[in-house]
Amino acid sequence: MALKLGNKSLSVSIKKSLLTSIFLLLVILGGLSIATKMRLSALQDTIETVGRDRLPKLRALGEINLGIARVRSASYRIALTATPEQRAEVEQSFRRRVAALDKKIEDTRASLNPASPLKLIFDQFAHKWTQYGKYQELLVDPEAPKDQVKFSNLVNVETEAHFQAVVDLINDGIKLANQEADAAIDEAIAESHYYSAILWIVNAVSILIGLATLIFVVRDVSTPIHRITSSMEQIARGNLETEIPYADRGNELGLMARALTVFKKSLVENERLNAATRTLSELSEWLQSAKSEGELYGMISSVLGRLMPECKGSLFIYANSRDVLEVAAEWNGRSHTASIHPEDCWSLRRGHSYVHGTSEVEFHCDHVHSTVNENYCCIPILAHGETVGLLHLEYTADASETAEEAKARFADRARLGSACAEHLAIAIANMKLREGLRDQSVRDVLTGLNNRRYLLETARRELLRATRHKHPVSVITLDVDHFKKFNDNHGHDAGDTVLRHVGEILATQFAEDAVPCRFGGEEFVVMLPNVNLQDAAARAEELRAKVEALNIRYAEGHLPRVTISAGVAVFPEAGATLMDVLRVADDALYRAKDGGRNKVEVSGHAACDAHAHCDHAADKATAALREVLERAKQAEAGAKAGKKNKAA
Ligand code: GH3
Ligand code: MG
Ligand code: MG
Repeated sequence: MALKLGNKSLSVSIKKSLLTSIFLLLVILGGLSIATKMRLSALQDTIETVGRDRLPKLRALGEINLGIARVRSASYRIALTATPEQRAEVEQSFRRRVAALDKKIEDTRASLNPASPLKLIFDQFAHKWTQYGKYQELLVDPEAPKDQVKFSNLVNVETEAHFQAVVDLINDGIKLANQEADAAIDEAIAESHYYSAILWIVNAVSILIGLATLIFVVRDVSTPIHRITSSMEQIARGNLETEIPYADRGNELGLMARALTVFKKSLVENERLNAATRTLSELSEWLQSAKSEGELYGMISSVLGRLMPECKGSLFIYANSRDVLEVAAEWNGRSHTASIHPEDCWSLRRGHSYVHGTSEVEFHCDHVHSTVNENYCCIPILAHGETVGLLHLEYTADASETAEEAKARFADRARLGSACAEHLAIAIANMKLREGLRDQSVRDVLTGLNNRRYLLETARRELLRATRHKHPVSVITLDVDHFKKFNDNHGHDAGDTVLRHVGEILATQFAEDAVPCRFGGEEFVVMLPNVNLQDAAARAEELRAKVEALNIRYAEGHLPRVTISAGVAVFPEAGATLMDVLRVADDALYRAKDGGRNKVEVSGHAACDAHAHCDHAADKATAALREVLERAKQAEAGAKAGKKNKAA
């Protein structure tokens, strides 16, 4: 529940209590303001009342003062009357005035506040007035003026002091009444100044609180809410690059921003996964159309390299021997090992994906180099229940990532890798199946050589290329001599063994630059691109000699010697198509058969009538053939002589 000054945010409960306090303070300030105003209004009333009340008092005191003067003058007038009638009239008036004055004094005394100083003074005045009343009676005594000296003494000396005391007291009363009223008004004015100041302060504090609350609401509530809401709108529109502010705040806005950040991350992740899924299905389509394993692996390294740029990856495929997996493709860097022994990888040993760095109990794969970081995974590629290979990914963390983030991102890449592995498995299995089927369709099972179909397909391409580059393509057709008889004598199995051996000689001799095929039965054809008739004849002779020299072990002993006859022709002299050239080569082969078998014949004049230069080529080939035969005979004779010498 602490106040965070760093990011200027308040905890929820403090904010609540602060708002409550502000509300209460405003209520108190409002109450104070009302009370102050009421007090000010009361003071105003007081001032008015005091002012209003002062007048009757002063008037009454003034009237009493005047009445006293009149009574005194009336008493003198009585003394000055000459006749009893005059005296009676004036005395009557005097008595009336005295009665009226007494009544006025009595009324005024009754109206005064008993506790006020004015009442005290007024009581003193009344007392003095009563005393003076006695002298008044002496003044109006009809006998008094008769003694002039006594009367003068009475008027000027004896009553004067009393009269003056009465007048002084009433004047004091007037003064006091004025003072009391002024003091009350001054007090009320001073108090009203005090309350006015309070009212000012209350109003100023209320305005300040109002302003502070407004600033707080604008800065801490409405602006952030507005900014977060616009970020939400942007994200909802699909603009996933939008920055989300206030995520570092420790209040509800921070919670909102962080929740929005998580939401955005999941959207980004979904978007990325969707893109990855789209790419994977596209990849799958491309992989299905790969022509060869090489092309397939090239595609895999290119696409996976772009799909997971932060991962260095390698694809290992089981070698045909099934004892080792060899690197078939690698991306974003080279693999540390060119091959893996199945025992060296935990995923292959345990039969499922192994993501290193995710569990408490885990061991390093032996095939993984020690410099590789913790975050790597091995995903077996399983097709039709059989492991065909292994996908190995090593995550390279970004410098800005924390270890946790790197782990989470790597786990995600490992999941993507597993999804990829499924697609790869299907593509690799299909490719292997296709290659297998294609192999079966173009390969002869008995000899391992390509078959007639393969020859026809390849010949079409080779003849076109030869035409373009103007070079010859020679063809040798060969047939095992008296093979029917051989079969009859030694059985078909022995015959098959012979055919296998002949196939091996062909495969070895023509591995580099020619296409040897089993054409059917015990007939074979060799196509030699860019080899002329002369050289082809020489190589046919070489082949014939090798077959003749074959010594095949079979069952408990050896099979008898087999021979072949061969015919040689060349494109384009012998014909424009393979079939034409084969026909000419077959003619030569028949001639070899007719000529006693176990020999090579080159295409003759009959087949090349249209081409004069063909004769010359055939002649040259025949001459070369004779020369080869001669050399072979000499070599044979030399060998025999050597044997005899040894025996001797
Ligand atoms: P030629 O010297 O005139 O060629 O006589 P040939 O007996 O070899 O010729 P032919 O065409 O009369 O006989 C071919 C024989 O080859 C017939 C067949 O039994 C045998 N043959 C064909 N294909 C195979 C095969 O795959 N295995 C075995 N063992 N024999 C085969
Ligand atoms: Mg035959
Ligand atoms: Mg034959």
